[in-house]
Amino acid sequence: MRLDPTLSPTPEAWLAANAPDEPVFFFHRARLMEVAREFLEGFPGLVTYAVKANPAPEMISALHAAGVTAFDVASPAEMTLVRAEAPGAALHYHNPVRSAAEVAAGREAGCLSWSVDRMAELEKLAGLQEGTEIAVRLKLPVAGAAYDFGAKFGATPEQAVALLRRVAAMGFVPSITFHPGTQCASPEPWARYIVEAAAVARSAGVMLHRLNVGGGFPAHRDAGRPNLQAIFDIIRDTTFGAFDIPPQLVCEPGRALAAEALTLAVRVKGVHDEAVFLNDGVYGGLAEWRDIAPMDRVRAVRRCGTELGGPKIRRVVFGPTCDSIDRLPETLPLPGALAEGDFLLFEGMGAYSRALVTGFNGYGVRRVVEIENQD
Ligand SMILES: *Cc1c(COP(=O)(O)O)cnc(C)c1O
Repeated sequence: MRLDPTLSPTPEAWLAANAPDEPVFFFHRARLMEVAREFLEGFPGLVTYAVKANPAPEMISALHAAGVTAFDVASPAEMTLVRAEAPGAALHYHNPVRSAAEVAAGREAGCLSWSVDRMAELEKLAGLQEGTEIAVRLKLPVAGAAYDFGAKFGATPEQAVALLRRVAAMGFVPSITFHPGTQCASPEPWARYIVEAAAVARSAGVMLHRLNVGGGFPAHRDAGRPNLQAIFDIIRDTTFGAFDIPPQLVCEPGRALAAEALTLAVRVKGVHDEAVFLNDGVYGGLAEWRDIAPMDRVRAVRRCGTELGGPKIRRVVFGPTCDSIDRLPETLPLPGALAEGDFLLFEGMGAYSRALVTGFNGYGVRRVVEIENQD
């Protein structure tokens, strides 16, 4: 998927001029810069970007230009990408289970920080340079995220105590990391994790170098913009309250940094009774809609680019492939007058959309158009 070389003033203007019969992403560099500033100025520590949320080269280079100096990577391919787009940036290798070849690739790429969640994986890192930061990944049963990340990775507090001691004994720099889940609606999970991390470090008798509070910050999906600063403040206050000597803080947002960067435009192929057929669906830019509650930020636009208003009715929404799974799990309220050839614009689609597009059945988003810096 490549970025078009020419800029457009608005998505509507581009759609009216080009009447694309394929789905299109619109890239909003100014919106990305705004949310990057919100993190860089508001978060009380180091902001790293979780590359998996949107690994587009222009995302990496724009965030680097905005002042993001470290990136959370999970694979050798992500290391190569960051090295190319953000030369000089620090790499944090936070995928706690690694093949021997991946360990070698991480060492070769100069990853500065590594996470672990079990002893056998820590032993695989014995060949890393002394003084490398190794962060023990902690897990707690946490409610409130859109889905549970503790189901796959993380050490219990008891296991984390043993790991932390071993990290220090091996001559590495000990830290703790956690990831509370994604799209966390309240600051509560962070507060609980921070208090537990302090208890784990105390039991281990280890002074933490850093505390990485993960990602999971909410993006704007419905009602209003989430209050990120309130979460940042609780993270800072809880850390200062829980530790005698507070470690440096690190965060690794993916979704919240990336979401505003893309709008997805799809076209209506047909409206048949209660059903709408679109030219993109869950095998394309709407992949995540199968796993997470739908967003409210959808508007309909006529082929001439003007907004389509009027009373809405709830409709079943199908994607373009011949697979019956290719439908949105819930009905969407859409204008009653919606017709073939109209477009639907989904805002805030920069995270876990572009990265998950497939070419199944010959469909899928292939085009990205950049919007001029005016909004
Ligand atoms: C996916 C992931 C992130 C980013 O999560 P978001 O919910 O997109 O902010 C951060 N850290 C780790 C370890 C992850 O796996």
